[in-house]
Amino acid sequence: MFDHIIIGAGFSGAVLAERLAAAGNSVLVVERRRTIGGNCHDERDAHGILVHTYGPHLFHTDDEGVWSYLSRFTRWQPYQHHVRAVIDGCAVPLPFSLDTLHDLFPATLADRLEQKLLARFDYNTKVPILELEKTPDPDLRRLADYVYEKIFLHYTMKQWGKKPEEIDGAVTARVPVYIGRDQRYFQDRFQAVPEDGYTRLVDRMLESSRIHLLLATAADDILTLHDDGTIDAFGAPFAGRVIYTGMLDELFHFAHGELPYRSVRMDFETVPLGGADRCQPAPTVNYPCNYDFTRITEFRQIHPCPQAGDVTTLLREYPQPYRRGENTAYYPVFTDEARSAYEHYLADAKKYKTLSLAGRLADYRYYDMDDAVRHALDLCRDTFGITDAEA
Ligand code: UDP
Repeated sequence: MFDHIIIGAGFSGAVLAERLAAAGNSVLVVERRRTIGGNCHDERDAHGILVHTYGPHLFHTDDEGVWSYLSRFTRWQPYQHHVRAVIDGCAVPLPFSLDTLHDLFPATLADRLEQKLLARFDYNTKVPILELEKTPDPDLRRLADYVYEKIFLHYTMKQWGKKPEEIDGAVTARVPVYIGRDQRYFQDRFQAVPEDGYTRLVDRMLESSRIHLLLATAADDILTLHDDGTIDAFGAPFAGRVIYTGMLDELFHFAHGELPYRSVRMDFETVPLGGADRCQPAPTVNYPCNYDFTRITEFRQIHPCPQAGDVTTLLREYPQPYRRGENTAYYPVFTDEARSAYEHYLADAKKYKTLSLAGRLADYRYYDMDDAVRHALDLCRDTFGITDAEA
């Protein structure tokens, strides 16, 4: 038997497995899919272009501990993400910045708005759109209404099926209005993509002979949770710890109803380059106001693929409602009702002294990759006394 069982081979599960194995434990990792890496999974397509199966993943962090921990398993290719948004037919820098202001407005108006912004906010600061809307100055209010309408309203309706003010403000605050001229999508200290991709990175984390990987297997196939707080694995009582990184409603057979998620249909297309080195002006171009898709990502601009020939692969993302059994859960939808249902599931989970939760799905949080790694490392320290020090 194994010392511990981890459900899910995404970033969270892989960090926990790696740390536990490094500390001498035998670990079984059970993954429903036939692939590892969770939604970070990437692979080369038929043209040799490295594509992100579940949408663009750009690693960025200010957490030096996370950065140095992951650096044990990959070499990095420095990469700073740039996004443009098509507004009134022009592809302008996103986040909306002072440069975007000057790209979209006549010079005298842009100058006046810039001065007003700088009188109200410090240079190089970030202002969430819902904050900017509260400014009393009528010119800045008009600017806020414009940015809200052109960048946030329709994109958010497509992405979430709700208006920006109907969802948690932290979601739109991920893409603030930027009182500065930095045109990068993220400002974190460490920004890069793994040289051989995320799947390879996770593969290296799972390399230990103490880690056993069981693919194409659901948690339900091997675990039984009893009402008395005990857990069986493979039909026998299991005394080790079970770390669950899947959807919590599923673990408890939807006893408190289904937690809402958003899904996305990923539509890949390979097109000729015609001798050019790229087919769009930035690695990701957002289409807030038009079309049913939210954005197009061109992977060759993220991972150079000199061997790929005169073609490029694009990904269009079409947000969808999540339908269990039919598509993939990507984003938790944070409504009050969902949070309260989640709390019920959390209370159920706490009845099992040997059960821990980790990751975006089980924690029902909008984690970035570095958040998932940080939480997994902290869980290792707090639950097992294992630190992220070199083992
Ligand atoms: N958003 C928007 N317009 C944009 C980009 C983002 O309204 O052009 C909002 C939208 O609600 C989105 C959120 O900001 O869900 C977070 O965007 P981010 O790019 O961080 O989303 P992710 O890459 O995680 O899907």
